[in-house]
Amino acid sequence: MLNDKVAVITGATRGIGFATAKLFLENGAKVAILGSKEESVNKALEKLPEYQDKTIGLYPNLNNEEEVRNMFQTVEEKFGKIDILINNAGISSSTPLENYTYEEFTKIVDLNLNALFLCSKVASEYMKKIGGGVILNTSSMVSIYGQPAGCGYPASKFAVNGLTKSLARELGRFNIRVNAVAPGVINTDMVAVLPKEVIAPIIQGIPLGRIGEPEDIANAFLYLASPMASFVTGAILSVDGAGRA
Ligand code: NAD
Repeated sequence: MLNDKVAVITGATRGIGFATAKLFLENGAKVAILGSKEESVNKALEKLPEYQDKTIGLYPNLNNEEEVRNMFQTVEEKFGKIDILINNAGISSSTPLENYTYEEFTKIVDLNLNALFLCSKVASEYMKKIGGGVILNTSSMVSIYGQPAGCGYPASKFAVNGLTKSLARELGRFNIRVNAVAPGVINTDMVAVLPKEVIAPIIQGIPLGRIGEPEDIANAFLYLASPMASFVTGAILSVDGAGRA
């Protein structure tokens, strides 16, 4: 479904991002696997030995414009173009408001929102050069319902939806589609660190009776990145088993 497409995926060393990188590779894409540290990027690449020629691992600071620009330049030099960007790196916390510091709020928004702006801005320059592209964002179920603690995370994801819808309208004339996937509770490290008392009632409220797997989200990204979604832009696709946090 993605033959010869070049994808840059942030937060691709594990969880949703890694599952998406793997699925994209299986579908013919070349993939830049981005993470926060050299060590985790190398570990992810080691898990994909059969795709050595079709992967590159990089670990730019996603809030630093120069590092982001260098990253896209490096990917273009290796693979010739940028067709797809998946803004997936994200961090969460469930700190209650009384303990929530301004620094913590800013850290969440810096990665979950500001980095998306920066990567999307630079990626769009490359996509315009080749007549189009696809930008996909990882939002969250909490971008629709909010959550009862850790207010920075849902706030950042509401903003991701706003950025998605606005960039879809702004970039449509360049044949750049912009969509988001809003995962429910997904079986990744991010969820593994949540206390049981936070997770258990959430699972009880999922009509499909299970939490999602990273592959459930990767499948949604594959559809949205592929020509099957050629008339889909500005969408926030819920992939959550109809769970309501
Ligand atoms: P994860 O913690 O397993 O992986 C996070 C990824 O982000 C890793 O590859 C990590 O290297 C990268 N990352 C973390 N901090 C970074 C930084 N400062 N700079 C660059 N990269 C950094 O998380 P996951 O559960 O796979 O989450 C991926 C995305 O899905 C996030 O945006 C998250 O908000 C979203 N999401 C997850 C769930 C869930 O239940 N797991 C639900 C809804 C949305």
